[in-house]
Amino acid sequence: MHERDAAIEALTDAIVRYSVERVRLSPPPLDRGRTEAELQEMAGNTITPEGIGGLQALQLFQDVLAPATISVDHSKFLSFVPAAPTEASVLFDFVVGASSIYAGSWMEGAGAVFAENQALRWLADLAGLPGEAGGVFVSGGTIGNLSALIAARYHWRLLAQGRHDRVRGLIVASTGSHSSIASAARAMDADIVKVVADERGRMDGDALHALIGDLPEEDRSRIFAIVATSGTTNAGVIDDLAGAGRIANDLGVWYHIDGAYGGAALCSPTARPKFAGIERCDSFIVDPHKWLFAPFDCCALLYRNPSIARAAHTQHAEYLDVLHRDGADHEWNPSDYAHHLSRRARGLPFWFSLATYGTDQYAKAVDITLQVTAGAADLIRAADHVELLVEPDLSVLVFRRIGWTPQQYQAWSDNALLVGEAFVVPTTWNGETVLRFCFVNPLTTVDEVGEILDSLR
Ligand SMILES: *Cc1c(COP(=O)(O)O)cnc(C)c1O
Repeated sequence: MHERDAAIEALTDAIVRYSVERVRLSPPPLDRGRTEAELQEMAGNTITPEGIGGLQALQLFQDVLAPATISVDHSKFLSFVPAAPTEASVLFDFVVGASSIYAGSWMEGAGAVFAENQALRWLADLAGLPGEAGGVFVSGGTIGNLSALIAARYHWRLLAQGRHDRVRGLIVASTGSHSSIASAARAMDADIVKVVADERGRMDGDALHALIGDLPEEDRSRIFAIVATSGTTNAGVIDDLAGAGRIANDLGVWYHIDGAYGGAALCSPTARPKFAGIERCDSFIVDPHKWLFAPFDCCALLYRNPSIARAAHTQHAEYLDVLHRDGADHEWNPSDYAHHLSRRARGLPFWFSLATYGTDQYAKAVDITLQVTAGAADLIRAADHVELLVEPDLSVLVFRRIGWTPQQYQAWSDNALLVGEAFVVPTTWNGETVLRFCFVNPLTTVDEVGEILDSLR
């Protein structure tokens, strides 16, 4: 064996061993961040003219860099929206990387795109979308929302046959909508008006109707999308999807549903009725990297009528036109359905996991997290030092530690991470600093939540 081959063999063994051991850690160490100065001190300069060698770089990752990242899949990581990728999905992520697949076009990635599309079909069926529905896996909810809204505006301008080409468009969302909707409006140089959500943070159809009715006629004609949220990020509350959908359909306005976090619960027969009306949407997103047990980064973006999205997003260039040659109309090019071009087959780890375990296991896993949420809510209701602030629709709990200042919340949170106990950060609710649990990990137990609540005494 050549010297170089021996080195790569050793590196292969080390990487495979490290990866398999990490996947099997249950629970993994929670770990915590470090300052840049600390990391510079511990890691030194890693990029050198000669290279430090793979084994050394891996050792550095293992000893210094990885412990300076919080394990999102830890059962007591309940901040933001955690992740809990299945073993099958994580292992297959390795296969995807090894396979050098370009998944932007059918020409280059047919087999991968075919499998991704079957996974998208499962989601489209759960949402009750028609057979022609389709889309693409993008990096996250932010780019999914932006891409859907770009298609919506394209459609609005198309229907106006030139009258709106120089008119600023208007998005109607709610105060509970995710920050990425406002970010999309900024990126698109569009306006946004927000319906004031109710006390649970839910957008009600009547409130939406009233807001639109109060707009001057000129503004009403500028509306190119109505956005509802199926699972607000801060409180896990589902908007009045049927009410909003009826209004959008009556006005002939594009209806987008942001289910980045909560859309996963569509697969739970117990939660599915809460999504009534979702079938009216023109576009929909859900992040499998949140509550559908896939690794980052993976957002499913679906369109009722993908041909509109294709017209809005397809890039044309001399070197790309072969993808759109005569007779290739039936070829599904994922690049054409979002604001991107080159792409990794990021839907494949999700597809592989679905194929491995079957969709029943997905329903079961989501139901388990919903049951743990209900059990945790009961613990909060029963305790006298904490108070539940929002009746949950899904798997988020917002609650108060009675009598605490914002500084006390932050100090408790910092300490819980420092000692490796839990990762729970404060949020705000109606301007008050409070705590929030978000459950997506089926391994989290009610007992673990009880331990966290005890540490708040
Ligand atoms: C998380 C989230 C997003 C953003 O998704 P990313 O994948 O983080 O870009 C958008 N909308 C909602 C409702 C979310 O929960």
